[in-house]
Amino acid sequence: MTHKCIHWFRKGLRLHDNPALMAALRDCKELYPVFILDPHLFDKTRVGLNRWRFLVGALTDLDRSLQKLNSRLFVVRGRPEDVFPQLFTEWKITKLTYEFDTEPYSASRDKRVTALAKEHKVEVVYKVSHTLYDIDRINEENNGKAPLTYNRMQAIVKTLGPPKKPVAAPTVEDVKGLKTPHLGNDMNYYGVPALDELGHDTLELGEEPFPGGEQEALRRLEEHMKKSGWVCSFEKPQTSPNSLSPSTTVLSPYVAFGCLSARTFWWKLTEVYQGKKHSDPPVSLHGQLLWREFFYTASVGVPNFNKMEGNPVCTQVDWDSNHDYLAAWREARTGFPFIDAIMTQLRREGWIHHLARHAVACFLTRGDLWISWEEGQKVFEELLLDGDWALNAGNWQWLSASTFFHQFFRVYSPVAFGKKTDKNGDYIKKYLPILKKFPAQYIYEPWKAPRSVQQAAGCVVGKDYPRPIVEHEVISKKNIQRMKLAYAKRSGNSDESASKKQGVKREAPSVVHMLKKKGKK
Ligand code: FAD
Repeated sequence: MTHKCIHWFRKGLRLHDNPALMAALRDCKELYPVFILDPHLFDKTRVGLNRWRFLVGALTDLDRSLQKLNSRLFVVRGRPEDVFPQLFTEWKITKLTYEFDTEPYSASRDKRVTALAKEHKVEVVYKVSHTLYDIDRINEENNGKAPLTYNRMQAIVKTLGPPKKPVAAPTVEDVKGLKTPHLGNDMNYYGVPALDELGHDTLELGEEPFPGGEQEALRRLEEHMKKSGWVCSFEKPQTSPNSLSPSTTVLSPYVAFGCLSARTFWWKLTEVYQGKKHSDPPVSLHGQLLWREFFYTASVGVPNFNKMEGNPVCTQVDWDSNHDYLAAWREARTGFPFIDAIMTQLRREGWIHHLARHAVACFLTRGDLWISWEEGQKVFEELLLDGDWALNAGNWQWLSASTFFHQFFRVYSPVAFGKKTDKNGDYIKKYLPILKKFPAQYIYEPWKAPRSVQQAAGCVVGKDYPRPIVEHEVISKKNIQRMKLAYAKRSGNSDESASKKQGVKREAPSVVHMLKKKGKK
């Protein structure tokens, strides 16, 4: 036992399937599990109150689990580049371990920290466990380029075989003979942050339907895996965007923070599928995890993945900047009850169904408001519990028909789409109680109700609830034409040559079309 080791938790806020943590325990006499509140990642404008509460819950849970192993979590405030040299010296550290992270900020941060570790003669060990596969391996198998269609990525993944099996969580036996100095006086300084630390008004907090933490993640996973019939017949397009309780797993916040390992999720599904007839990718639950892998792969292979400019695979569109429209969308004041109900659920609960994300993302961008997907991406990053750099950027590009998906003429109606799965508008009534007395006939279009009906419902449009900010039928047609122009410019091949320069391969749109027709995301 020679090492004094820091295991640096960033994502991966769990003990199960944490190979880097296991590497820390090897040959270790003193263990310091550390989480850093990096001001670059954690500031009020980027992390909404619900996501902050989720993180605080996850850190509390992790600290509790570490205490059961006679250790604890040290939460340190500051930039990692400033924090580590002090900790290396103060705690006489000889080894640093962490989970590999593909985000550009994380990659540059880790490079700087690794250089500092070298200066302090600290050995660095990192392991891949946030994704099913080593993302670089997938791109390598595709001749060093990001596969830009799901079925291409799936074909590559098939050649790699199934994902690695998850690693078991450490036991008391694994930490025998190893100690974590508790630094008694510094207990508060290194403590898990309080809910008000980020400066949000905690009085705004509502119920907590999805509490953070590994224990809750594993409980939630088990709960779903028990419903083997549901798991085996799961087809994403058949799930509902506006059911009163979620129609999909809501494991995304847990996977995003790494409270749940994607590989554990994958292998649990494999167990449930064993010997039974089951759905397949892209629509199955395995398929959903492969969508995650797909967007991670693209995010690594495509430069400037979270931007339009400088992103060689993204169609360049002349989006408007309209602050009033953006604010109306963000604050659930568009006058379209389906859109406003979704945006209310997002703000209140931090999670909305995938197809609800489709509806509001299409509405903000190519469908109605003609506002850049980057603006929507920022709002989602702040408000989603599962806010994830790669998945958010990838899905916004998809929905705005900027990348991956090219059928820009297929626009979601903010009126008809929700009716398919909720004729009565019960979802709207739940999130917009001001409309709860409207008859079903008008609940999606209250402005069409005769004044007497509005008065009887106790909600006059234009006074108690906004009028629609755009005329969907008119604006969506105009926007399709604008999108057509953007595509025409693109086929001038300017971005194709940029893609080639960047070494990024664009696959034939026809493949994407076929996938969308057959596969449905
Ligand atoms: P399930 O259907 O139960 O799927 C299981 C898991 O598969 C999810 O937990 C998630 O990890 C993964 N998954 C499912 N769908 C997708 C998908 N389309 N892309 C990638 N991974 C997927 N997901 C995020 O986790 N973070 C984001 O920031 C995010 N931003 C999005 C933005 C837009 C505009 C859109 C349209 C989608 C976004 N998604 C994002 C993808 C998807 O909507 C969510 O992952 C999913 O709705 C989470 O709910 P669930 O856990 O019940 O999913």
